[in-house]
Amino acid sequence: MKVKRFSSFRFKMVRYMLLSILATFITEGIIFLGVYLYETENIAGEYSKIWGASGQSSMPLGMLSFSQSTALDFFVILLFSVFLFIMYFVLISHNFVMYVREIISGIERMKNGDLQVEIPVRGEDEFSEIAASVNEMRRDLYDTLESQRTAERTKDELITNVAHDLRTPLTSILGYLDLLTQGDFLTEEQRQKYLGIVSGKARQLETLIRDLFDYTRYDRDKVKIKKEILDLNLFMPQIVDEFYPSLMENQLTCRTEFYEGALNIEGNGELLARAIGNLMSNAIKYGSEGKIIEVKTGRMDKKAYVAVINYGKVIPAENLDKIFDKFYRVESSRSLKTGGTGLGLAIAKNIVNLHGGEIWAASDESGTRFQIELPEVRPRKS
Ligand code: ATP
Ligand code: MG
Repeated sequence: MKVKRFSSFRFKMVRYMLLSILATFITEGIIFLGVYLYETENIAGEYSKIWGASGQSSMPLGMLSFSQSTALDFFVILLFSVFLFIMYFVLISHNFVMYVREIISGIERMKNGDLQVEIPVRGEDEFSEIAASVNEMRRDLYDTLESQRTAERTKDELITNVAHDLRTPLTSILGYLDLLTQGDFLTEEQRQKYLGIVSGKARQLETLIRDLFDYTRYDRDKVKIKKEILDLNLFMPQIVDEFYPSLMENQLTCRTEFYEGALNIEGNGELLARAIGNLMSNAIKYGSEGKIIEVKTGRMDKKAYVAVINYGKVIPAENLDKIFDKFYRVESSRSLKTGGTGLGLAIAKNIVNLHGGEIWAASDESGTRFQIELPEVRPRKS
């Protein structure tokens, strides 16, 4: 907000003073005129009593000459003028003073922790500017405190979830280890089976700890990552190949449709492979009923995209935004033996954010599509 020169505080004071002086003059003028008329009347009466008989009916000019005023009269008039000036000044500046008090009381309330107050912004002087700035400061403070509270809540949630997810496999590892150490009656076959379970659970723990580590590592806005120019069309076939055994295991066919031509983006290959890999493993995990998975690349509005599409169970519309939150799993997936912890998409989202891109999902009867969009760049001339 810019203060206009003629509505600044200084001009306002000058205006109030001029108005008070004018009001003082007008008041004094009216009073003096009244006194003058009254005295003229009286003296003229006396005059006609004395001179009326001799035929002179009007009072000669100069009878009420200024010379009659004494120094005391001046002093009294001056005092009266000062009094009138102060009175008018107080009256005229009343609204302004009330406004300043309103600002002060608003600041006092904020000081005492009330961050809901909004000081009205009136006029265009420095005080209105102070009010607007204080309001802005209050809003920023409120937002900061709110986000701190949310961060605190999220941290608590994260700790609860992590504790739960770590405890579940750990409890079963301890249970089987007890059986293995105390159970002399176990057959070799049972022993091998239990060892297999323990090893599987330990691996699950390892994956969870790695995911958690990755999630927090990439969750910082300013984390510096090493980037290079990558051609998505050269990069994608390698990722798809890595999933070949998993696709075979789930009797899935992968159809690819890659953009004809270079699709250059600037990014960290390892991280992007992790993000796209998470989409691939989800498509395999949740789309095994569909028999087919599609992987596409393309360009759109100076952006390069990678889409992973699977068929089968539809993700309900109300869950589409939430699935990118950490630890969020669609209710039906919880009951499935898919064994995830709900970190895969959160990690993918953090990685895509670090690349200045976007990730979204759409799901209906025609398929479930996850798409990563990254800014396209021109390859550097070497
Ligand atoms: P994690 O990836 O950590 O092992 P997860 O797969 O459960 O566990 P996310 O990858 O974050 O976690 O996915 C979150 C949820 O979104 C999943 O639990 C599932 O309900 C749903 N989801 C993700 N991808 C798909 C998909 N391709 N088709 C259907 N549902 C999906
Ligand atoms: Mg997943």
